[in-house]
Amino acid sequence: MKFNQIIGQELVKSHLTETVNHNRISHAQLFLGPESCGSLPLAIAYAQFIFCKNRTQTDSCGVCSSCIKVEKLSHPDLHFSFPIHLLKSTRTADDVFLKWKEQLEKTYYFSLKEWYSTLGNDNKQGTIGTEESQRIVKKISLKSFEGGYKILIMWMPEQMNIQAANKLLKIIEEPPKDTLFILVSENQENIISTILSRTQLVKIPKLKEEELATYLTEKEGLQKEEALTYAHLAEGNVSLAISLMENKEQASFNLDNFIKWMRLCYTRNIGETIDWVDSIAGAGRETQKNFIVFALGMFRQSIVGHYADSDLVVLTTSQRKFLDKFSPFINHKNIVVLTQVLNDAYFHLERNANPKILFLDTSLKIYAYLKRK
Ligand SMILES: [Zn+2]
Repeated sequence: MKFNQIIGQELVKSHLTETVNHNRISHAQLFLGPESCGSLPLAIAYAQFIFCKNRTQTDSCGVCSSCIKVEKLSHPDLHFSFPIHLLKSTRTADDVFLKWKEQLEKTYYFSLKEWYSTLGNDNKQGTIGTEESQRIVKKISLKSFEGGYKILIMWMPEQMNIQAANKLLKIIEEPPKDTLFILVSENQENIISTILSRTQLVKIPKLKEEELATYLTEKEGLQKEEALTYAHLAEGNVSLAISLMENKEQASFNLDNFIKWMRLCYTRNIGETIDWVDSIAGAGRETQKNFIVFALGMFRQSIVGHYADSDLVVLTTSQRKFLDKFSPFINHKNIVVLTQVLNDAYFHLERNANPKILFLDTSLKIYAYLKRK
């Protein structure tokens, strides 16, 4: 991975390239940044830059044999360590390296949960254990294969247990010549302090929304407006923005239906309400439940938009337009009872109520409460 393939983070890139250009690479560095802002790809691009046989002042060449090996994750002097699910057959990162490769081939921006899901169980915490530490010490003690640096990128050192950390202290403090440890972390507080004190901090900031939006337009083919919305909703978190995009279908179903429903309740148009009830009754039960949760969220945001700082409300442009007009009809006098009506609807949906009766009944209740000011 070249630096120019990484979204934003220009200041970090120039700091990293300068350490190499001025021969001031500190042997243990902690890349600290929020989830999916680019810390891991920056670590990999940094390694590639160091290994590259033909680099410029600002980037690796991307085509020399070293760069190709890093791209293929097969450089013999580049090692990865990461949390795994400890099982009989999987003790160290080597045992699941193919999964790691699969993950990085899919994307360099991913969350711990996504990684656990690639490993096969996103509900189970992973660990960097003692056998992994032993493996690292062994790898790092070997001579470098290509005569240059040996680099270990450890993703999520906060998942390392204390015994494993203790085994690494000495080698991190007094590493063999031309060794570089890059720890890539999201949470400084959870890293064992003796490890922390032996590293130099490289802070990776949250991505700017415009930077993420540019990426979403150029690489994911979104329209500018839409890209800005996702970047804003995801607060600069790349993998979150992508997953929000993927949930777009349900989101637009919810929004369309919410707007339709509230218009009907406001105008008390019983004939069209019955048509709408028929259509939503045809959707699956999970879709209906998801819709009710969405409607609850919209009610809540109406109140926030109504009474508090509008920055607290995170909405797409079309939601915003509708809510601007709609929010005055939700107020402190009816919010409690309206929330109750939707909570009841959810409760009954879960218990297999007839959706036609349920949505009609709920609509009539909203008719009654919506105009009370
Ligand atoms: Zn190169």
